[in-house]
Amino acid sequence: MNLPEIEQKILKFWEKKKIFEKSIRQRKGRPFFSFYDGPPFASGEPHYGHILATTIKDTVLRYWTMRGYQVPRRVGWDCHGLPVENLIEKELGIKTKRDIEKMGIEKFNKACRSSVFRYVNVFQSVLERVGRWADYKNAYATMDKDYTESVWWVFKKLHEAGLIYQDFRVTPYCPRCGTPLSNFEVNQPGAYRDIEDQSVYLKFPIKGEADNFFLVWTTTPWTLPANTALAVGEEISYVKVKVGNEKFILAKTLLAVLGQEYEIENEFQGGALIGREYEPLYPMKLDKLGYKVVAADFVSVEDGTGIVHIAPSFGEEDMELGRAENLPQIVTVDQEGKVKTGLGIPGEGKFVKIADEEIKADLKKRKLLYKEEKIVHSYPFCWRCDTPLLYYPLNTWYVAVTKLKNELVVNNKKIHWVPEHLKDGRFGKWLEGARDWAVSRNRYWGAPIPIWQCQNKDKKCDEIKVVGSLAELYKLSGKKPADLHRPYIDKITFKCEKCGGEMKRTPEVFDCWFESGSMPYGQWHYPFENKKLVEETFPADFIAEGVDQTRGWFYTLHVLATALTLRDVGLGINSSAFRNVVANGLILAEDGKKLSKRLRNFTPPEVIFEKYGADTLRYFLLASTQIGEDYYVSDRRIEDIWRRTISTLWHTYLFFQTYIDKNFKPARNLKSKNILDRWIVSRLNHLILEITDAMDNYQLTDGARPLDSFIDDLSNWYVRRSRRRFQKPESEKEKNEAAQTLYYVLLALAKLAAPFIPFVSEEIYLSLKKSKMAESVHLCDWPEPDKKAVNKNLEEKMAQARTIAAQALAERAGSGIKVRQPLSSVSLKNPLLKGQKELLDLIKDEINVKEIIFDETLKQEVKLDKKITKDLKEEGMMRELVRQIQDMRRQAGLTRKDRIQIKFTTKDKKLGSIIAKWEPFIFRETLAQKFQEGKISLENDIPLEESKIKVGINKIHPVK
Ligand SMILES: [Zn+2]
Ligand SMILES: [Zn+2]
Repeated sequence: MNLPEIEQKILKFWEKKKIFEKSIRQRKGRPFFSFYDGPPFASGEPHYGHILATTIKDTVLRYWTMRGYQVPRRVGWDCHGLPVENLIEKELGIKTKRDIEKMGIEKFNKACRSSVFRYVNVFQSVLERVGRWADYKNAYATMDKDYTESVWWVFKKLHEAGLIYQDFRVTPYCPRCGTPLSNFEVNQPGAYRDIEDQSVYLKFPIKGEADNFFLVWTTTPWTLPANTALAVGEEISYVKVKVGNEKFILAKTLLAVLGQEYEIENEFQGGALIGREYEPLYPMKLDKLGYKVVAADFVSVEDGTGIVHIAPSFGEEDMELGRAENLPQIVTVDQEGKVKTGLGIPGEGKFVKIADEEIKADLKKRKLLYKEEKIVHSYPFCWRCDTPLLYYPLNTWYVAVTKLKNELVVNNKKIHWVPEHLKDGRFGKWLEGARDWAVSRNRYWGAPIPIWQCQNKDKKCDEIKVVGSLAELYKLSGKKPADLHRPYIDKITFKCEKCGGEMKRTPEVFDCWFESGSMPYGQWHYPFENKKLVEETFPADFIAEGVDQTRGWFYTLHVLATALTLRDVGLGINSSAFRNVVANGLILAEDGKKLSKRLRNFTPPEVIFEKYGADTLRYFLLASTQIGEDYYVSDRRIEDIWRRTISTLWHTYLFFQTYIDKNFKPARNLKSKNILDRWIVSRLNHLILEITDAMDNYQLTDGARPLDSFIDDLSNWYVRRSRRRFQKPESEKEKNEAAQTLYYVLLALAKLAAPFIPFVSEEIYLSLKKSKMAESVHLCDWPEPDKKAVNKNLEEKMAQARTIAAQALAERAGSGIKVRQPLSSVSLKNPLLKGQKELLDLIKDEINVKEIIFDETLKQEVKLDKKITKDLKEEGMMRELVRQIQDMRRQAGLTRKDRIQIKFTTKDKKLGSIIAKWEPFIFRETLAQKFQEGKISLENDIPLEESKIKVGINKIHPVK
């Protein structure tokens, strides 16, 4: 079987016959099954993660198509944001934002634009190779003007709902990218990493008390010059201790950090310290009173000294405390993360992590550094450029997600999650702890934030205008920009309605997650176009991406939909953006490590496609691992799937094709009473029920796995035990019954397998299909189960028969007795099959025994009588002879249907007489007759036990 070749042929067939288009067109007028595709970045090559998500999407969508729904599938590409900007910066050798502004935003954005579709063809061809059906021709792009207009509309609706505000706040900030990041970007997997950092204990001199110090701990010495207060816990116990000639104040439970002998002088509550002043390590010019002790409830005694250094510019809690306590705020670091010059701070002009060393050395010299250690702690890095993040104060636009928390939680309850635990676990918990979302980025390549602000500082005018459409922009400015990107949009200004001043756009662009979260509306240019379509297909019935999207796309889709449906804007009230979501795990190498191109610890997908076919990879992804768990991908495991499932299915189908008569016509109804036929039909209908139930609930693993065990039953029991009916039937009727059953089963199986392994299923279907049947398996309706055909009792008994046969065969193998050697009996302990003649006959045939005895006193389940009598030995010999003759037929190049004559020659008289006795059996089994005349075409010496026999065969030519 050359699956890759078959797949290429099927791909061409689909394309030529426009099967995908037909699959949608033929359902016109039927209800929609709505799907949102998470737009990928096409600025890099697709990897296994994309293939996994695409397999899940394709399988579910093919299923619902067969269930009779209209399933439009639009593809989109994510174009904006840091990933693209970083790529271009690297290519152009640019290191800072200053460089970008020097070269010009226009030129920079042009370079970004030209790169976004660089891998679109590779992407598309990989997705198509996996069998993913989608409308690639009408793909949308998030950088399209129409798309941006919808994003503006979403933003304006949020603004009207009172959910947009600007704040000067400390946010996670990438000093290299020069932009704040959202809290969920900082929570992307891998953003936090364990690093070795410094752990420094400092001496803050208490004002007016020589040699008396507050002992303070930090891991960020660069923030010390921005210190304006120390915080203590009011209820925490502190002590003053004497160490040598010096005295220190610290929390009582943290005395161990001193690391040397001490003498406690007195003990008191933190409240007693409030208002005490100290000498700053780096005195700065303050506009308010600072350098004093304040109380804060976040002070803990888990680590440090119980006295917390407060730098309102560089910590979220610090800034809040600073506002509450009216503390001065100093920014000692610039936006590139470098220590400002001219303030007298060591390491000025250097990046903070480098300045750290100079600050420590300076404090050491001044004897203000108590001690220094190393600690390993987790620290956030920029998910795009890998620079350590800072917490930095900036004016940033926020979505007030915290105001929506209740609605977010309630709407999540309506979502069906696979795996289920994400609902209340990872996603639910994330919603409960939701923070306001920083949506502005101080960058260039993105949809511009549509806020214009009055520039009239004299009149202190705070007028802002949020623009929700191009028509509105035209009304205000008289301009119709051809391109909404920076720098063009920045040039559009208009008059302030309040004071007549100039209104200018706030310079930031959108967080690209805001854009991808707007995709349900943006992809159709809603509400400016396609109003009816979008409203009919909102929310999505189904979406699927990696589990990391719980803090990415799943989250932003959910937040924006929840915000938009607070009121009726045409999309319903209080709705999430999706009803069902399937989240897949990661794909790891066999050893559990990440897939790495550098380490070459995996086989690239293209190689797998060419070796085992896309269907094999699809089935591996759908059945090998419970959806949501991580995968361990290896050639061995994929090959195993190929052998066990795909190839077995294929050979079962080949068996049918080989033995079927040319003029075979499928019957309307199955009438066979044969126990194997009744059983496999029951199993099939059971399978339909099982897969349908699983797929209706988006349980793809539970839908895929039963196919494998069914194929095993079909091949290794049904076909195996039915061989004789096909090859040497006792009557035409007997063969026809078996053929009708196998045809019915294979045809239904092709349909059931179609969503999972669309290529093999199509190939099998196309060769089984009769005129008047659908042109493709993917244009068929999903099989209806015939519940009356399901016979659980029979299935249980057949399973028992298979188990017994397997045990008996194992016992034979253990004793070295070939299956060809008949044995007189087998004894069974379990009486379940007593009196079931047909089942017992199947077992007898399978394990080659003459009789089955029931014996409940037996110690084991199955016991073979291994005594080989003279008669049994003789029969074994003859069966061996038959096998050898069949072999000779093959050697002579004869087909199954050719009849032969056989000539036996032996000097062994005893053997000669045995053969004479068994001739009718031998001839029947080998489609032969006794040698009459003609030329022997093949002659072999066949050893039988201690003797041997010469066997000659030749083909009988049919009489004309
Ligand atoms: Zn960065
Ligand atoms: Zn104004």
